[in-house]
Amino acid sequence: MTATIGAATMRALAKVRPGPGAELIERPVPSPGPGEVLLRMEAASICGTDHHLFTWDDWAAENLKPPRVLGHELAGTVIGTGSGVTRVHEGDLVGVESHLFDWTCAQCRRGDMHLCRNLRVIGVHVDGGFAEQFVIPEANAIESNGLDAAVVALQEPMGNAVHAAFASPIEGRIVLVTGCGPIGLCAVGIAKAAGAALVIATDTEAFRVELARTMGADLALDAADPATEERIGAATGGDGVDVVLEMSGAAPALDQALRLVTRGGSISLLGIFAEPPQVDLSDLVIMKGLRIHGIYGRRIYDTWERTQSLLRSGSLDVSPIITHRLNLADWETGFDLIASRNAGKVVLVP
Ligand SMILES: [Zn+2]
Ligand SMILES: [Zn+2]
Repeated sequence: MTATIGAATMRALAKVRPGPGAELIERPVPSPGPGEVLLRMEAASICGTDHHLFTWDDWAAENLKPPRVLGHELAGTVIGTGSGVTRVHEGDLVGVESHLFDWTCAQCRRGDMHLCRNLRVIGVHVDGGFAEQFVIPEANAIESNGLDAAVVALQEPMGNAVHAAFASPIEGRIVLVTGCGPIGLCAVGIAKAAGAALVIATDTEAFRVELARTMGADLALDAADPATEERIGAATGGDGVDVVLEMSGAAPALDQALRLVTRGGSISLLGIFAEPPQVDLSDLVIMKGLRIHGIYGRRIYDTWERTQSLLRSGSLDVSPIITHRLNLADWETGFDLIASRNAGKVVLVP
């Protein structure tokens, strides 16, 4: 147990009232309770979810009760520990599993903690890490094993991609990634590193298509180009793709994916659809014998270990995905970049 820091204050980016916007505020440094650790923020990346919270859509209004410090893609150095903390130590740089789970429900008991019935998300339901210091349960602190702080933070969204990519076998298969935001871009790199025979990526933004090429896509195409489906057909010998990793949550992308996937193929669905999509289940799913995997979060802790193995082995370099590093004080620029969709990952640093 280390001393708490008394009445010290810190800067934190918070949603202070319901409605659009956020504010950089001064607030007391939190102190770690039993089983908790206090972290000094080293890197915190902005997620699409943060954009939803900022703009205050229906989901945000339902889930976030202000005042709340935002931020759930985090890396921090342990600077204080509560009673009972034994695994992590002061000075450790750790990544953060963003989901809080109860260990007790049926899902947790069978090892599906990412699907806990009482799941809460850091930076949504409890205070997050767009702050100089923040507190998390020790169980959520993941040793960084020598990775760079921005990459440590990036493991959270990358874990979503790892979870989606390995839902079905991809080695020696033709993989299509629809949607090349940061998670889709990670998926491109993961599929290449895992030995996919051919990796195809689509997005409607030229900037993202180019980044997909940088991440190793063999074929990176404009999803809205009428010639795209024909080109994918030609690249797959007319058979279609074996595995789709749907990262966009865009109905036209899902449509395209269902047409392009081969009979008996599989689809991992990670992108969240703003409206329930219309799908021809009979012709495009049942008759084709598709396997569809819904992907939420990361497997705790199996996905973290796979993610770290990919990064530490050098078989995957995610640094091209990090396009901007900004001071916490310049958070508005960061949120503007995310809204513009002309950025990869934007990382805030202290
Ligand atoms: Zn996120
Ligand atoms: Zn549970």
